[in-house]
Amino acid sequence: MRTVLVVEDEPRIASLVREYLENAGFGVLVTSDGRAGLTLARARRPDAVVLDLGLPGMDGLDVIRDLRRDSTVPVVVLTARGDESDRVAGLELGADDYVVKPFSPKELVARVRAVLRRSEAAARPVDRLVVGELEVDAARHRVIVAGRIVTLTPTEFGILATLAREPGRVFTRGQLLDAVHGFSLETYERAVDGHVKNLRRKIEPDPGAPRYVLTVHGVGYTLAEPAP
Ligand code: CA
Repeated sequence: MRTVLVVEDEPRIASLVREYLENAGFGVLVTSDGRAGLTLARARRPDAVVLDLGLPGMDGLDVIRDLRRDSTVPVVVLTARGDESDRVAGLELGADDYVVKPFSPKELVARVRAVLRRSEAAARPVDRLVVGELEVDAARHRVIVAGRIVTLTPTEFGILATLAREPGRVFTRGQLLDAVHGFSLETYERAVDGHVKNLRRKIEPDPGAPRYVLTVHGVGYTLAEPAP
């Protein structure tokens, strides 16, 4: 049985999340405290972590920072509505996805399943990815759209290849810059929007209504997941 650790200080939310995860077949560990969450994560090695960012004592962002020193366990953070900076900070510290409160427990279960699926897929190296009529061939450094080879700049290719490593995962602008240039400067993050605009012009059938490279407002970009 796969186990999910839930770190949430609101008892009502914690018990609702427990109930839905248990009904979905997961073993569930619950704590209301960030430090206890870290201890449990290290001692019990859950398969995924659901982490509220607004915790008393040790803040959720500090929990991720500390956890990521020695763990790659998939983490879904729970964030307050409207707090986009927390969402971005959570992803940049290494969270895998986020759900905005108030959320539907079914949606949370779906997100947990998705991060588990993606972390298993990411463990296998992928040289070639096909989404609809888009083919990203990382091994040959080649992109094909509807049977036609598309020429991308190294930065455009780097952004697309990064997104293609984990379709469905949201990458912040800072993470995309890191992946492409190996560093990130806040002032340059808007440059990613320019590269994405050019990339869409080359690979999207309708750049005004993207099908492949999708915007996640206030957070970043994601590549559409291939149809199952
Ligand atoms: Ca809270």
